[in-house]
Amino acid sequence: MSELYQEIILDHAKRPLNRGPVEGATVTVPAENPACGDEVTLQLRVAEGRIEEVGFTGQGCAICMASTSMMTKAVKGKGCEEAGALYQRVHDGVQGKGEMPKGEISALAGVREFPQRVKCALLGWEALREALGMRRGEKGGTVTTESAQD
Ligand code: ZN
Repeated sequence: MSELYQEIILDHAKRPLNRGPVEGATVTVPAENPACGDEVTLQLRVAEGRIEEVGFTGQGCAICMASTSMMTKAVKGKGCEEAGALYQRVHDGVQGKGEMPKGEISALAGVREFPQRVKCALLGWEALREALGMRRGEKGGTVTTESAQD
């Protein structure tokens, strides 16, 4: 990975944003990546199709923490549809199937060469996708990278 990418990722990993439970969360999604040992639980408070508040708890490697931190920063205040579209771009971009969104999230493209790290980078985003598809008050089953198709 390039030094710039490493710096952005390490910075987020050291000081993850939106860490902690969300008061009045409307959806909660636990997610795990057994290959690495990453475990995060994502919470959203969605109102009128917009993500009012987002937060996560749990522990993971630097890539997982940084990626989840960036994700929460990126989707906070966004409409659910917009957040879903961003998920798709990151999902494809990290795997080299499309272009990464611009900005700091593009740092995650550094994991493309490392399939095991791709799982770390996508864990928080997979939890987001699950959360966006859930109804208010629902608690999702655990999202795991082991059942991911691609
Ligand atoms: Zn990991």
